[in-house]
Amino acid sequence: MIPPIDAGTRLVALLGDPVRHSLSPQIQNAAFSHLGLPGVYLAIRTERAMLPYLVRGIAAAGGAGNVTVPHKAAALEALDRSTRAVERTGACNTFWAEDGAVWGDNTDVAGFRAAVAALRPAGVAGAEVLILGAGGAARAVLAALEQEAAARVTILNRSRDRAEALAAAFPDTPLEITIAPGTHPLRGRRYDLVVNATSLGLSAADHLPVEPGLVEAAAALDLVYGPKETRWVRAMRAAGATTTDGTEMLIQQGAAAFQRWWGRAAPIDVMRDALLQHR
Ligand code: NAP
Repeated sequence: MIPPIDAGTRLVALLGDPVRHSLSPQIQNAAFSHLGLPGVYLAIRTERAMLPYLVRGIAAAGGAGNVTVPHKAAALEALDRSTRAVERTGACNTFWAEDGAVWGDNTDVAGFRAAVAALRPAGVAGAEVLILGAGGAARAVLAALEQEAAARVTILNRSRDRAEALAAAFPDTPLEITIAPGTHPLRGRRYDLVVNATSLGLSAADHLPVEPGLVEAAAALDLVYGPKETRWVRAMRAAGATTTDGTEMLIQQGAAAFQRWWGRAAPIDVMRDALLQHR
């Protein structure tokens, strides 16, 4: 039974700018209703200056939430405590109150690990991995690969300084950096997993983050998601890779956030159905 929205309803909010395109309200409200939880998930467009006030105010009122672009790094200043995923990525996408403190997690790390586990049941321990991109999402991917003890990671990015800064944050991971478009060192290389962590793929005008002919990949995971599967996912599948787009990671990071807020497992199938209905 769906509880009424009343004085006992808990506010769970998505804070970012922009937020109108987000599918998280549909996914999370479907999960809350399915389990009869007294919560409502709303997206609130948030300016940078207001972020700490909203995070702490919502948590103080018994609520919780997500933080998205461009505030994931800025959210750290609103936290009293944080998980290892926040420390390794310098970013927070989930907050809640616990024992009088405001906690933060970055569930993109757990979300990526779960999406990879679905794509590659053998896991990525000892695997050769190519990451395309060196922004916030790539950093969450590296934090996950660090936990999984990948054998070797190559970062391919447009700008060298960002790739070098990312590599410097993971001194214990065997890393190689390649700068696009000078991608010839990759030619003929075979990877167990290639991850698109660039923002390329949302617009039809975007070039592919890497040409399928350049590298061979057993599996390809695109973090980008949209109304349809991305062109890169289709191209990598046609080249023989096992593929998935960013929707599975979106669901899995949302499920990990749900677990933080409610202290129970998320109804993942309900969340996946809700996303597919709105796709
Ligand atoms: P970000 O920090 O802005 O990083 C963007 C990356 O894309 C950088 O490496 C950037 O290269 C590269 N890039 C952008 N435009 C490019 C172009 N025209 N040519 C070549 N490279 C280009 O963004 P982010 O937060 O990491 O997010 C990246 C993507 O991951 C977004 O699409 C986001 O929606 C997605 N994501 C998905 C999930 C999920 O749950 N599925 C979770 C998190 C993020 P430079 O360093 O050279 O600028």
